[in-house]
Amino acid sequence: MQVRMADLGSQYRRIQAELEPLVLEVLASGRYILGEHVHAFEQEVAQVCRARYAIGVSSGTDALKLALRAVGIQPGDEVITTPFTFVSTVEVVVQLGAKPVFVDIDPYTYNLDPDQVESAITPRTRAILPVDLYGQSAEMRALRAIADRYGLWLIEDAAQAIGARHYEAPIGAFAHVAALSFFPTKNIGAAGDAGMVITNDEQLAYKVRSLRVHGMNGGYYYEDIGYTARLDELQAVILRVKLRHLEEWTERRRYHATLYRTLLMETPLQLPLAQPYNYHVYHQFTVRTAQRDALRDYLRQRGIESAVYYPLPLHLQPAYRFLGYREGDFPHAERAAREVLSLPVHSELTEDQIAQVAQSILEFTQAEALAV
Ligand SMILES: *Cc1c(COP(=O)(O)O)cnc(C)c1O
Repeated sequence: MQVRMADLGSQYRRIQAELEPLVLEVLASGRYILGEHVHAFEQEVAQVCRARYAIGVSSGTDALKLALRAVGIQPGDEVITTPFTFVSTVEVVVQLGAKPVFVDIDPYTYNLDPDQVESAITPRTRAILPVDLYGQSAEMRALRAIADRYGLWLIEDAAQAIGARHYEAPIGAFAHVAALSFFPTKNIGAAGDAGMVITNDEQLAYKVRSLRVHGMNGGYYYEDIGYTARLDELQAVILRVKLRHLEEWTERRRYHATLYRTLLMETPLQLPLAQPYNYHVYHQFTVRTAQRDALRDYLRQRGIESAVYYPLPLHLQPAYRFLGYREGDFPHAERAAREVLSLPVHSELTEDQIAQVAQSILEFTQAEALAV
């Protein structure tokens, strides 16, 4: 039995009857840009995140970029962030002419280590940009305290974490502004690219709304140099249907994580640490072992997919070498990049499939133990 990292085809078939009439209705309506479904989806996401404002945009990357623009990040500004994330987090900082300043991660949660943030603050620092990696909130409460003490913006990359909570508050609650992604394989995914900015700040919301349509304020008057960064009506209608299933799908992911924890208890693998004050939504279930590559091959030979998020931290990537970092600068991120392995955890899996993955891992670790 094949076990895949994502199974969007199966998911589609389960919601097909709900989805298709609505998609066809939008097609027939002729209303494709900023229509009723974008508006309704914004309100629904705002409700899930208990945020005052939600603004639908064209991708998670654009959500981050517009959030940074909205708080006024400019060339020469410094933004403190993690080197152990998807490239978007850092790419948008550079695209705005600002400088990403990396701080190492906590080796157990893989999230930005708040204890190392203060020493990275300089007079040019404008914002802290943590990532809720693998579906677990970053240390947002601690980071907000630091941001407030130094007068910095706190921008949350919540692309992997819709539905997650931190001290009972939904993601985004401790940030000035947060970015969500609905890339197809995220916990809820569009049939293409889509994203959302959430905030409680009226001015930031206004700014993001304007920036997503060329910086327009009313018909053909421009206050800002903006972007073409709207959420499509077709994507919005699809996402509205999927959002109704978010809780159920998140519960499935969490159940799969519980099964893995039980089944893998006896292995030497480091299992994900979910902090007791976090509600983890397991965008990924990421284990850790020094034999990562061998384990990955072993699973592949048994028809089980796995993935490495991420194989090389951003400070060592060719494109970001100009920032001047070197190997050894962020040892926790570098070691994590060599050792992490994400296992299939998505909502479409069966208990048998989880058991099959766990069984293969147990066989691998037992064979390894005999070999030494
Ligand atoms: C997916 C992702 C993004 C970007 O989202 P897109 O919708 O693909 O542009 C940004 N940051 C993180 C951490 C992500 O996982």
